[in-house]
Amino acid sequence: MGKNTSYVKEVQAVINEGLPEEVAIELFQALTEQFEGVDGHAETEQFKQNLLHYRKYDLVGFRRNIDKVCQDNPLPIKLNWRKVKYQPKRIKRCEICGYYFYDVSRNGRKLTCDRYGEYFRFDFTNRTYRYYYKNGVRLSDCAAEYERRRRTGSVLYPNSNRKPYEVLIDFQPSENNKQGHALLNEVEMTAWKNRLN
Ligand SMILES: [Zn+2]
Repeated sequence: MGKNTSYVKEVQAVINEGLPEEVAIELFQALTEQFEGVDGHAETEQFKQNLLHYRKYDLVGFRRNIDKVCQDNPLPIKLNWRKVKYQPKRIKRCEICGYYFYDVSRNGRKLTCDRYGEYFRFDFTNRTYRYYYKNGVRLSDCAAEYERRRRTGSVLYPNSNRKPYEVLIDFQPSENNKQGHALLNEVEMTAWKNRLN
């Protein structure tokens, strides 16, 4: 997630209040973890139902959880339940790490969490950090892993629709050494495929 992303309205609302995007995402993640501790369930649908029930029959308690998370985290601005409208229906389980996360995306099609931050690795040749991009947005750790598995198949779950010639990554627009990076990606792809074979 990051720039160029549109968020669901309750997340956009706290961004409009002055919370940086990354912090807004973390806030809704922290709320999800808080609610999981209070009313969680191994099945996503049951977890959502538990929370909807909680909100319906103990709204004060539901809001108290929101206030607690707002107070316990070092947010740059003061927030409480009046400003933070947590929607249980957005809860999903990450396809990669299995943790619950809050789908902040407006299209509601996020499959992976942002829990472990952005995926990057150090490029020893060019002495710089490299990120993975899709549609101009940096991928999270789990999203990058998901893309790799989707495109090449994993060791345990080979992807029958694998398209080995598909370009793995969109390049960082601001990079000037595109050819070098293209080559590097090709090398990495080959290494990755060899590991599978
Ligand atoms: Zn994850």
